[in-house]
Formats: sequence, structure tokens, C-alpha cells
Amino acid sequence: AAVPTGAVADPEANARVRADDRAHVFHSWSAQALIDPHPVAGGAGASFWDYEGNTFLDFSSQLVNLNLGHQHPDLVAAIQAQAGRLATIQPSMANDVRGDLARRICEVAPEGMSKVFFTNGGADAVENAVRMARLVTGKRKVLAAYRSYHGNTSTAITLTGDPRRWANEPADGSVAHFFGPYAYRSPFHSASPEEETRRALEHLEQTIILEGASTIGAIILESVVGTNGVLVPPPGYLPGVRALCDRYGIVYIADEVMVGFGRIGEWFAFQAFDVVPDLITFAKGINSGYVPLGGVIISDEIAARFDTVAFPGGLTYSGHPLACAAGVATFEVFARDGILERVRDLGARVVEPRLRAMAAKHPSVGEVRGQGLFWAIELVKDAETREPLVPFNASGPDAAPMAAIAAACKKEGLWPFTHFNRVHVAPPLVISEEDLVRGLDIIDRALDVADRAAAG
Ligand code: PLP
Repeated sequence: AAVPTGAVADPEANARVRADDRAHVFHSWSAQALIDPHPVAGGAGASFWDYEGNTFLDFSSQLVNLNLGHQHPDLVAAIQAQAGRLATIQPSMANDVRGDLARRICEVAPEGMSKVFFTNGGADAVENAVRMARLVTGKRKVLAAYRSYHGNTSTAITLTGDPRRWANEPADGSVAHFFGPYAYRSPFHSASPEEETRRALEHLEQTIILEGASTIGAIILESVVGTNGVLVPPPGYLPGVRALCDRYGIVYIADEVMVGFGRIGEWFAFQAFDVVPDLITFAKGINSGYVPLGGVIISDEIAARFDTVAFPGGLTYSGHPLACAAGVATFEVFARDGILERVRDLGARVVEPRLRAMAAKHPSVGEVRGQGLFWAIELVKDAETREPLVPFNASGPDAAPMAAIAAACKKEGLWPFTHFNRVHVAPPLVISEEDLVRGLDIIDRALDVADRAAAG
């Protein structure tokens, strides 16, 4: 049968997909009887479509994953060609695409980082980075930010600061959380970004001292905090963290799972903030999630510690050829189509001014912030008090205003990413300027719903 290239109403398929899903698929992070997952039939570029004749502009990139959009022909062709040649091979063999991809990753990573350990996704990249840090320092404790998400395997979820950690506790006692900078809701009541940097670093140093520098093996930080707010670090913060890690013998892990590979217009987001970590975790954008892939980029100093001592970790699918082939194709598309330059240009020229105009126009917009094609619109009841439009971690009826904003977007053909009291803007990096403007206009109109909710 021909593959449809756009939305076609097919009630029979819609009913079948929904019935199988409801009967047999156990979904992530959900009360199974209370959800109604939307059946998706296909996608192309910045859009996907369902079986009811609807096409949605994808401003979520499917959990900020599809940097090169749906069904990119180069990635699909690379996977097909690789599948015809060598579909899989165990990790202990050498393999051409795996080596090719590792070399390309190291070429765009900072100097002095020339080894990659491949994983199946982001959480296991975090697990293995932490394992490396613990082994090389001989210290077990890891510091992580409250406003963070690092994955849903056992160590990664205890590192995670956001409420998804709560039900997975008790944590294993070797993680401590701290406040990262967040100028709009400063835990330190700072008056400026510079003051926020200074106070956040003082707080982090106090945390290190009181938790015991002799017990802390690593600090893990999202270079730009993603799901928990698109928090761009203020000037000097990440270099300050680097200095503290050096002073106290702590490994600095940059979690680039969501922001790596182009999201803010850099290969790695930390490159915009003048810092070099010891370990980098990545996943998602490396191949837009077409085949699961993640990994850890390792400093030469840490890698050398495993030259003659075995690294005690491994995964059957590590460096899977289909995933790596899609990764190699990703590098080729980035170079040929100037993706990084495009993201910087669209972010500064199209997204930022439009979001700033929305902030000026809508009383419910407390703050807009972001970089490249990664932004958050933070919604409030009152711009003076900054009371969030919905309470922290709201669900059900408490979250109704956010559900209404999402529904208004979907009605006009935009699939948004909403989280707590925020609407995030994270379209595929290949989105056309016309679609980007169309999507932002839809959000602009949906914010009328937020204004009404704020006015009560
Ligand atoms: N780290 C960050 C910063 C993330 O955003 C995510 C997922 O969204 C993860 C880790 C976990 O990645 P995965 O879902 O591939 O395990």
C-alpha cells in the first residue's frame, strides 16, 4: 500500500490503533486509566498527522528529540542502507559507522576529549558518566540541581530534582541537591544576573563544604536546564562551577541530552558559556532519536584511567550500527544545510522578537527566555507577585488553564510542549521560517486563554 504523505481520515485505523494502545500499552509517567494517547499516523519535517485528517506543526519535537524533524530523507536512507549491510554487531567488535561517528563527535567536542562510550539513550549515559566519576575519584556522592531532569533509571532518577523523583525515593543516599541560578524566581533574591551567579556559586560552594568535598565525586548539570524551565545560565555561572570542581577534586558532568547537537545553535550548549566539562552526556539530537542512541564523551584524563583497568560497564546495543548510521547522516546534514547557523539566526531574528512582543502584550506572560530554537514562556497570575498561573506540579483540575492553552493550540494545528506553568518552544531545527512564524502566531492567540485564566 502507498504510504500517505499527509493526513488522511481513516476512522477504522484510528479505532484499531486506539484499541490496541488502550488494551495493551502501559505508558510512561501515567495513571493508565486516566490517559487518552493521540494516535499518530505519520510525519514529515516539522509536522505530523493523525488518522482523523489533522496535521500538527510539532513545537515539541517529540520530547525535544527530533532536531532534524520527522522522516528526514537522509537519515531514513542511511538507516535503510545500513540495515541492508549490517543490521547489528556486538559492541566488542570494531565497526565502521560506530568509529566514524565517534570520530565526528570528538571533532566537535572540546580539545582533550577524544573517546566516546555509546549507550542506548540519555538515562544510561548519565548512569555511566556517574559510574566513571565515582570510579576515578573514589568518591560516591553526586550533586545535582533541584530544577533538573536526568532520566528515569535508578541513579538518573535520584539525581533528577523535579517531582518525578519523589515517588522513586528513597534515594540511595549518595545524591544531594542544590539550587541552580534562576533569575526570575531567584532562590537567593538576587537583583541582577551577575548577583544571581555570585550567590548561586556561593550556595554551591557551601553545599560542597557542608556535604563534604571528600565525599563528592561529581556535579551534574544541564548546560541549559530543559524540561524544568529552559533556564539559560547567567554569565559566569558554568565557569564558576568548573572552578569549584577543580578546587575540590570533583568531576564536572555536563548533561547535554536535551540541548546537545544544535538545539541552541551550538554543537554542545556549554560551548556558548565558555566552559569545558570532564564528561558530556548526549542522546536525542545525535540522530534525532530515529534509532535509540546516547553516550558519554570522556576527557582524555578520565579515559586514561581505564587504559589498563577495565571499565566495568557495557550494553548489548552500545553503538548500534543503525543508530550510528543515522548519527553520521546527522553530521552530514548539519554541515551541508548549515543547521547551527540557521538555529542561531531563526532564534535571534524570528523567535526572540516575537516572544518579547507577546510578553509585552499578554499580562499572563511573566517572562520569556531561551536561546536558539529553545524557549520558555512562563505564565503567571500576576506579573507583580509572579504567582504561577498554575501551582507547581499541578495536575488534574488545578492544571486546567494549561490544558486549555494546549487545546487552543491543537485546535489551530499546533502541537505544543507545556510543562507546569510554561509553554516551551522547541520545534525541529529544520522548520521553515513560514511555519515557525505560523506556530508562534498560534501560541500568541492561545495566550489570550492564559490572560483570561489569569484575570480569573
Ligand atoms: N538528561 C536530560 C537533560 C534529559 O532531558 C533527558 C530526557 O529528556 C534525559 C537525561 C534522559 O534521557 P532518556 O529519556 O533518553 O533516557
